[in-house]
Amino acid sequence: MDRFEIASGVAGLKAYEPGKPLSELEREYNISDAVKLASNENPLGPGLLVQEAMRAAVADQSRYPDGNGFELKKVLAQHHAVELNQVTLGNGSNDILELIARVFLYPGREALFSEHAFAVYPIVTQAVGATVMTTPAKDYGYDLDALLAAINDKTAVIFIANPNNPTGTWLDELSLKSFMDKVADDIIVVIDEAYFEYVQKETYPDSTQWLAEYGNLIVTRTFSKAYGLAGLRIGYGLSSLSIADLLNRVRQPFNVNAMAQIAALAALKDEAHLQQSIQMNINGMQQLTRGFADMGLSWIPSVGNFVCLELGGMAGRVYNRLLYEGIIVRLIANYDLPHHLRITIGSRLEIERFLSALDRVL
Ligand SMILES: *Cc1c(COP(=O)(O)O)cnc(C)c1O
Repeated sequence: MDRFEIASGVAGLKAYEPGKPLSELEREYNISDAVKLASNENPLGPGLLVQEAMRAAVADQSRYPDGNGFELKKVLAQHHAVELNQVTLGNGSNDILELIARVFLYPGREALFSEHAFAVYPIVTQAVGATVMTTPAKDYGYDLDALLAAINDKTAVIFIANPNNPTGTWLDELSLKSFMDKVADDIIVVIDEAYFEYVQKETYPDSTQWLAEYGNLIVTRTFSKAYGLAGLRIGYGLSSLSIADLLNRVRQPFNVNAMAQIAALAALKDEAHLQQSIQMNINGMQQLTRGFADMGLSWIPSVGNFVCLELGGMAGRVYNRLLYEGIIVRLIANYDLPHHLRITIGSRLEIERFLSALDRVL
């Protein structure tokens, strides 16, 4: 390793650590039937319409996918009332975040976001040699005033997760819109709405509706969470036509595979499955937080499909003991939250198993 010259940003990077895979836990601990509540996946998975569409397409995988994703972009454009070419498809929405970094960030430029923000923002920023700037959180969430105050002439991209992962905190329409009004229009603002469908707050904004107003806005969405397609890797960005054109210049020709495009199209038609997933999350959130309250524990209020449980100095030990119980949750010390564990809202049974394991461990 040592004898290679590497890109300046890469030296300071650490590889993203995903939640422990179920198969790995089962192998290492010689158990079966483990429960994973660590990566914010939808416990229902893909609906039957998606499964049927994929099954029907299995034999037809010898050709390259439609590199322009025409059919899917057409439906997404209708869905969001934008032009087809305002949609950029990604191999997961993380792919879009990376395209944004490759277009707008380079050595000498800065990406700005909050403390405890999504881990992919620093990775894509440093990977292209740009600099990370973070502002202190307010109540674990984004402090938009601090963000505004931190803008300088090197600031090129601002990443805002709404809601944020791992904290589940969110920004309301009034605050976020007035923030957009104050940011100079030559700075890209990315509003990452990976958990959009789950949020049940009256004043939570759909920032895709602001695209006509702000030429510097990019909104990202994904099929990984409420749509239950995390394994297929598909997400998208919405932006002005000129930004979309820039993103497409650095996009790999066939970044979104054919099966993912087929599945996403079917998922968009299955409103009932989406609603069922959302309702399941509402119920699960109640079940989980009621369980925490019964044990006298505190948590960060979340509008996503996950919650951060506060355990003080015990978090690491509780995480390890839960593994022995066959339960994988998420350590978030890498988000500067060493006293919390992030728990994904699973099925009713999974939450039940988690809560009783947690009770035993504590
Ligand atoms: C899960 C998540 C994503 C989505 O990632 P995909 O690449 O679409 O699977 C994006 N942003 C945040 C904040 C997330 O938590």
